[in-house]
Amino acid sequence: MKNNIGLVKRANRSIVIEAIMSNEVVTIEGIVRMAKLSRPTVLGILKDLTDENLVIKTGFAPSEVGRQAVLYSINSRAFYAMGIDIDGPPVRISISDVNGVSLFNTEFAIELTASGSQIAEMIIQNIDRSINEAGIEAKKIIGIGLGVPGVISLTENRIEFISRIKGCLEVSVNNLIEERTGVPVYVRNDAHLLSLAEYSLKKLSGDLIYVIHRSGIGSAQIVSGNLFTGVNGNAGYLGHSTINANGRQCDCGRIGCLETYCSKRAIVADYCQQTAVQSTYRKIVQFASDGDPVAVGVFAEAGRILGLGICNSIKMFDISTVIIGGLGCGEKHVFFKSICESIRKNTLEYMRVQPRVVLGKLDESEFGLGGCHYVLKRFFSLPTLKVSIE
Ligand SMILES: [Zn+2]
Repeated sequence: MKNNIGLVKRANRSIVIEAIMSNEVVTIEGIVRMAKLSRPTVLGILKDLTDENLVIKTGFAPSEVGRQAVLYSINSRAFYAMGIDIDGPPVRISISDVNGVSLFNTEFAIELTASGSQIAEMIIQNIDRSINEAGIEAKKIIGIGLGVPGVISLTENRIEFISRIKGCLEVSVNNLIEERTGVPVYVRNDAHLLSLAEYSLKKLSGDLIYVIHRSGIGSAQIVSGNLFTGVNGNAGYLGHSTINANGRQCDCGRIGCLETYCSKRAIVADYCQQTAVQSTYRKIVQFASDGDPVAVGVFAEAGRILGLGICNSIKMFDISTVIIGGLGCGEKHVFFKSICESIRKNTLEYMRVQPRVVLGKLDESEFGLGGCHYVLKRFFSLPTLKVSIE
């Protein structure tokens, strides 16, 4: 019973915080109305939150008669969240305020052949640099969300496998970071973290399929506002779903994985193979925009196959909102148009709602923000009651 009282208190506290966060400023009466809690309960929670400096008084509501009501708001600088996104070789770090607004983003490269200790050391050095350059107090960082482009263990908070960065498996990179910084590090799938940031930034509700297009391809599904993690935290491993059973060799050891046809690496390889010219993904995007027929052809085909892969996901989950991040091109580019066309052609006619496919909001430089949003979601989440009947 005692635990349940604590749980109710924590739940009420989360509800009050959510009511304040959903408005820039709000009066006590406003919080009571939104939270559907008694006035004394709200007053008690508000006192705690203002004592902790998480909520601050920001003035008075305009009133023509009687006493003016105090306005409250979240202290956006009460603490900070940090996110790290490992793409390999680029690693990106972001720091956000309490509202998930990006305050600082940076990027550095790791050697794919580096040892786990070397990778951890580089990340730690860049964490210190980020804190200094952002001009914030290190002790105010409440957590680090570490996005990994590979297989993780959610229950053991561990990296299990990254096909291109073997060194990450020799030592526990996250434990080394945690020991040196004193901040909890949460190891999660990179696409999962990015989906949370996009979901929040686009102010979505309901369901979402998020796809991240980078050196590999990842995805995440959010169902009724909740991220579907899977048992081990690896749900949505889209890049290594088989699209051609007799197809190309993938570096995961299997045959015909989706990302061997349409990831950034695949697109660069296809373009180079057809032209015998070495180039970068970014340049090939521009070549296609300029009408280079080989680049247009490579993107049209990559888009067709990526669209098929996304369509499989749409049919499996019956989710009609799709965000694709990381394409590095606009809506009018042949790549995005080809993806959308492929999805439209291959969506089942009897699906009542046709998929809505949009580009992600985050720029690559802000990919660390996914980890920030995870840390914040974890901090503000409603406690859940688990009841077992024996
Ligand atoms: Zn594969």
